[in-house]
Amino acid sequence: MPLNSTDQARLRLTVFAALERFLDLRGGFATRDELFNFTIDGARFPLIDYTRGIRNPVELDATLSVVSSLDGPYPDRVDPATGLLEYAFREGDSFAGDNRKLRVAIDQHAPIIVFRKPMPNIYVPVFPAYVVGAGADDRHVLIALDEGMGQVYRNGVRPVFEKRYVERVVQQRLHQPLFRARVMAAYQKTCAICRLKHPELLDAAHIVADADEAGVPTVTNGLALCKIHHAAYDQNLLGISPDYVVHLDRALLDEVDGPMLRHGLQDMHGIELTVPARPGERPDRDSLAARFEGFGV
Ligand SMILES: [Zn+2]
Repeated sequence: MPLNSTDQARLRLTVFAALERFLDLRGGFATRDELFNFTIDGARFPLIDYTRGIRNPVELDATLSVVSSLDGPYPDRVDPATGLLEYAFREGDSFAGDNRKLRVAIDQHAPIIVFRKPMPNIYVPVFPAYVVGAGADDRHVLIALDEGMGQVYRNGVRPVFEKRYVERVVQQRLHQPLFRARVMAAYQKTCAICRLKHPELLDAAHIVADADEAGVPTVTNGLALCKIHHAAYDQNLLGISPDYVVHLDRALLDEVDGPMLRHGLQDMHGIELTVPARPGERPDRDSLAARFEGFGV
C-alpha cells in the first residue's frame, strides 16, 4: 500500500540524503548489488529493480528511479536544445504497467533518481531529476536534470534556454559525475600520488582543462588525487612528468615545517605515480607533458 502523500515525500528525501552520503563514501558511484541491497534506517529498500530499468516501490505512487542506458540498442539521449533527457517507456502500453507510475511522476512533480551506467556494474545517479512530460511520439518521457529546469519545464512549459546554460547543466549533472566515477573506478579509489584510499577525500582531477566544455572528459585526462595533492597540482607546487614521476617545487623542498609539509608533500618528491592496471586508462603522456611545461622545473 502506498504511504500517505506527506510520508511519500519524506521517504524520497530520506532516500536522497542516504544516497548522497553513500556516494560521498564510495567515490560517486554504486554497484548493482549495493543499490539492490540499499538500506534506509536499517531496513532493506532497493533503489533499483533487479530485472527492469524502472523502480516503482509499492510505498510510492510515482516512480523512484530509472536506469538510463548509455550504449544500449536504443540509448537514451539528451536533447542538446533543451537539456532534457529522453527516456524510453517500457515496451507495450505507455499508460499501463510500469509506465503508469512514470506518468504519475509527471503529475505529482515527484523527484526521481536517474541512474546512468557508463561501465558494467557502475551506476552513477543524477538526482533530484524531474519527469516533465512525454515525448511527442509518446514513446519516451522527458526528464529535467536539475531542480531549476524541473521547475521551469513543469506543466509543459517549453522556454528556450541559452545554449551555454543548457551545456553547463549537462556538464555539471551528467558529464562531471561520470568523469568522477570513471576515474575513481580506474584508480580503485586511491590517490595516484600518496595512495590514500578515502573516496570522501579524493577528487577526479583534470590533467589539462577540458577543451570542449560539452565533451565528456576521458579517464586518460584524469587523475585520482587526494584534496591536498589536487590543490598542490593545480597550484603548480607539485608537477607530474610524462614518465609518471612526481616533482615538488624547489622552494617548497627547501622549506622547513611540520609533518604535513615533510611527509605529505616533500616525501612525494621523486615517487612514481600509482596508475590504473589497464593501460588504456592510464594518464595520457602528451597531456602530462603539456601540463608539466607550466610547472617550470
Ligand atoms: Zn594524495
